[in-house]
Amino acid sequence: MTDTGRLTVIAGPMFSGKSEELMRRVRRATIAEIDVLVVSHSLDTRSDISTITSHTGVNIPAVPLGDVSSIAEAARQKDYDLIAIDEAQFFGPELIPTVDEFLHQGIGVIVEGLCVTFDGQPFEPLPSFMAVAEEVLRLTAVCTVCGKDAVFHQRLEQTESQIDSNSATSAQAPASTLAATAIDASHIGGLDTYVARCRQHFTGGSQEA
Ligand code: ADP
Ligand code: MG
Repeated sequence: MTDTGRLTVIAGPMFSGKSEELMRRVRRATIAEIDVLVVSHSLDTRSDISTITSHTGVNIPAVPLGDVSSIAEAARQKDYDLIAIDEAQFFGPELIPTVDEFLHQGIGVIVEGLCVTFDGQPFEPLPSFMAVAEEVLRLTAVCTVCGKDAVFHQRLEQTESQIDSNSATSAQAPASTLAATAIDASHIGGLDTYVARCRQHFTGGSQEA
């Protein structure tokens, strides 16, 4: 009977260093001559489509794929030891059974992605993966207001309207026209679109705290 693979989850808000950590682990695996399939989501067009890129601009080669069945197909092409998936939230909950199959085939899996939406809600499938992983690395970013640990990120236009009203901790966020879990390119951005926030300074919630 084949040994099952090990599931590692790297989760956090934007800017928390998830992609940097994934790249570090992939580099180590490559040095150890482990066959790794590195998957990015084809929606992520921040840079060259065939890379995973961090907010610092560092990148590694990756196979850009648009859905879960394409990951399964790519995994069949070679006898991979490890499958590393960037921006896993964009593949949706359908990723869960496919990752489970990989694990039962003895393939290790690193699932990396946002565990929280820009309006402060759990972002599946990351929370479900966190529940059953052998290892969970839960990262935080740096709050752009106070420098404390940021467990949230929020869209910049929400931030500006809240800061303008000078009531950053209590005001109701404006209604977003974009569902926080939508698979949409506008969910992919950098410092011009999103900011990291601690619990105190997060104003992007759909409900008033
Ligand atoms: P993620 O994949 O989690 O969005 P990345 O690995 O792409 O994050 O980028 C992390 C890098 O982003 C940090 O090492 C740092 O240089 C940069 N950065 C920019 N803004 C912030 C912030 N508010 N908090 C932490 N890191 C930030
Ligand atoms: Mg990233």
